[in-house]
Amino acid sequence: MDNVNLTSLPPSMLHKILSKVLMTGIRDFGCARIAFPGFNEVGRDDHFYRSADLIFFNDWANEVNAIRAFKVKCYRLGNPEAIYLRGMYEYFFLHLLDEGREKIHRAAERGCVLAQFVDAMMNLAFSVDGRGIVHNYPAFTHQHVDEMFQIITGWKIGHNWDYEKPPTFISVAERIDPNVPHSCWCSNLDPPMFIVSLDGSRLRWKCDRCFWNCAAWEFCYAIHLTARAWPIED
Ligand SMILES: [Zn+2]
Repeated sequence: MDNVNLTSLPPSMLHKILSKVLMTGIRDFGCARIAFPGFNEVGRDDHFYRSADLIFFNDWANEVNAIRAFKVKCYRLGNPEAIYLRGMYEYFFLHLLDEGREKIHRAAERGCVLAQFVDAMMNLAFSVDGRGIVHNYPAFTHQHVDEMFQIITGWKIGHNWDYEKPPTFISVAERIDPNVPHSCWCSNLDPPMFIVSLDGSRLRWKCDRCFWNCAAWEFCYAIHLTARAWPIED
């Protein structure tokens, strides 16, 4: 790395570069800060921890203590993604349902897009009625839902799902009827209408009622896979 060139960069650019470095691992993050004073300045700044991208944070490095300290600091400084990840951990691992929901909601209010999705989809899933139909449709476009599902199903993390889903959540998931479209006018359109998903798959177009019922059902069967361990300070 040529320090002469780096010194001419504004802090906002250094921030962007250091954020990328962080994604490759906490060790590289530390090395970059030692190698160049400009990175050290940026990496010390509270703003860096508040805005660090943690959703795709590379977690399977060996520096457990350094990662733990980094995450705890992000959470303490109010990083929305840290609040979201901790909320997911509390909800799905610890079964602290109220605490977890409250944090997911707070992360959503602070602008974490994935938290906004999860918060709204939980409201949707929990509004299932006695016939297995969900209500409380969120104000998302169908395409946004597709985008969020791409993120959720593409989540590249270790497969440490050695925890039980909260029984309340399981019972809600079981009550949602994913077969609503089978008896709906929208699946009997002639000729049938199709939409192309972001992953290239061709799906039958659904009316709002069928779309949200299927989305809520899929959400319940995929979202817990994105929960993972999060350090809670003593
Ligand atoms: Zn329908």
